[in-house]
Amino acid sequence: MNPADLPPELATPCVPLLEAVRAIAQGPLAAQAYAIDRGAYPADVLKQLAAAGAMSAHLTQADGTPGDYRLAIQAMAEVAKVCGATGFMMWCQCVAGLYLQASGNPALMGDRLAQHMRGQTLGGTGLSNPMKSFAQIEALLLKATPVDGGYLVNGTLPWVSNLAPDHYFGAIAAVQVDGGCTGRELMFMLRCDAPGVTLKACPEFSGMEGTGTYSVQCKDLFVGADDIVADPAKPLIARIRGGFVLLQCGIAAGVIQGAIDSMWAVEGQLGHVNRFLEDRPADLQAECDGLLARVMKLAETPFDTSNDYFIDVLDARAHGAELALRAAQSALLHQGARGYLMRSEVQRRVREAQFVAIVTPAIKHLRKEIHRLSTEEMPA
Ligand SMILES: Cc1cc2nc3c(=O)[nH]c(=O)nc-3n(C[C@H](O)[C@H](O)[C@H](O)COP(=O)(O)OP(=O)(O)OC[C@H]3O[C@@H](n4cnc5c(N)ncnc54)[C@H](O)[C@@H]3O)c2cc1C
Repeated sequence: MNPADLPPELATPCVPLLEAVRAIAQGPLAAQAYAIDRGAYPADVLKQLAAAGAMSAHLTQADGTPGDYRLAIQAMAEVAKVCGATGFMMWCQCVAGLYLQASGNPALMGDRLAQHMRGQTLGGTGLSNPMKSFAQIEALLLKATPVDGGYLVNGTLPWVSNLAPDHYFGAIAAVQVDGGCTGRELMFMLRCDAPGVTLKACPEFSGMEGTGTYSVQCKDLFVGADDIVADPAKPLIARIRGGFVLLQCGIAAGVIQGAIDSMWAVEGQLGHVNRFLEDRPADLQAECDGLLARVMKLAETPFDTSNDYFIDVLDARAHGAELALRAAQSALLHQGARGYLMRSEVQRRVREAQFVAIVTPAIKHLRKEIHRLSTEEMPA
């Protein structure tokens, strides 16, 4: 996105955080993007980005300064423009921080949150399954049974990203008593090194191979008060759902912008024939800037719990996924064979855009949820 094309209140070219993020993205991250696509987990780059403040801009700062979702989304876009997989891992770290801070649990907030914000520790989110369960797409996969001082959790999540043996992530389990569901859910931070937890390698994906994605098995995992984010979980989810989904627009914005940039890169040589293609870069840029302006406006009130606001967020997220697919495909058509080389960012971005479209909430899930919320009976 060219800052000069944005309304003045959206153009933030001089923000030091964005300058630091851009330097990391276009330096060490760009050098590793191919290796990440082939499966290398970029712990060092993630730590550098977090140390620069790129994964905590949306959180209330230690001095009480309120979080800035606009800045967090812009930072994620700068990274996703270079490597969509790393943009996704930034989102994982961002929402794990959101869970820690929103928990209100002193054991999760103090040092644990501070270390997370600085990137000294890394983590992710296992909320795809619960989000799909709340949208009546599938059943909850983790079950929690109350025991003295906490819960015993059992079950398997098929894929959770930004993980390593010493990482952690936010998870939700259905609370069961005597083998029966209580209708209540428990949200907690799951430590990958806790007794009873096993990380298993996933089958090979067509993209996102370097995202540290594992299947996580829990066998009688004890969850005590120090790891509880919310019990019951739903009131907290209602507060954070807007910010959770909105932050993902940063990944989409970066993938779209990267695709547009690679179209311009061949314009001098191939513009004479590329002008016969649909989805030309100037048209996509106008649509991307319009979408980003909308996302920036929504990012001013991420904790708005109204249905109307959430529908707007879901719609912007769906637009981001659809535009990412179109832009990535058009960039491939614009670049031709050079974009089809295995080392080309252009074909990698097609697979990254596909991920934006299928990661929860996937386009189909977004449309189902928009339909449900728009037709739901309003309370009298
Ligand atoms: C690379 C990658 C990283 C991911 N990272 C995370 C993460 O960090 N956190 C997180 O919570 N989720 C993560 N997911 C899951 C993701 O968000 C989606 O939930 C998942 O892609 C399926 O969503 P869907 O809406 O397409 O469901 P569908 O694919 O439509 O799934 C419907 C049902 O089919 C099952 N299913 C789908 N594929 C298979 C299969 N191969 N074998 C058996 N059953 C299957 C699903 O479990 C589900 O019950 C990741 C997925 C991928 C591919």
